[in-house]
Amino acid sequence: MCNDKDMTFFTCTQCGFCCHGESTVSLDEEDQTNMISALNLSREQVAEKYWRVSGSIVQMKTIDGHCVFYKDGCSVYRGRPWRCAQWPLVPAILGDENNFIIIKNSCPGINRSLSYEEFKKLLAEHLEKTSDRDE
Ligand code: SF4
Ligand code: SF4
Repeated sequence: MCNDKDMTFFTCTQCGFCCHGESTVSLDEEDQTNMISALNLSREQVAEKYWRVSGSIVQMKTIDGHCVFYKDGCSVYRGRPWRCAQWPLVPAILGDENNFIIIKNSCPGINRSLSYEEFKKLLAEHLEKTSDRDE
């Protein structure tokens, strides 16, 4: 759930659609550390209460069809995973218009008045300024 209010090509409506589903994004090591710090609990407590761990894959648990942290918004906002912070402004949109169409259809925050080429240009500029993690 990205929340950059200054971007005209995307403004999050806080609809929560991206926090719903039976699985969540995966948390990398830095995400795990950030979340533990934000929740002020031990790793074991966070893992038991909030994580679904399968081998080396760590995701958040889901409850009633949404992320365990979704409560009319993100209740772990400061410690949310980087993929949540990035969504829906993902590099995959740049290489394939189908990705843009699919994401636009699921995210009402994307400015519908922009063509794919216009959106792509603004997204590329945004990613150039902000990207510090790899896909
Ligand atoms: S689906 Fe889009 S508009 Fe809705 S909360 Fe997620 S990022 Fe925001
Ligand atoms: S961590 Fe927050 S932004 Fe990410 S899926 Fe859960 S509720 Fe949504």
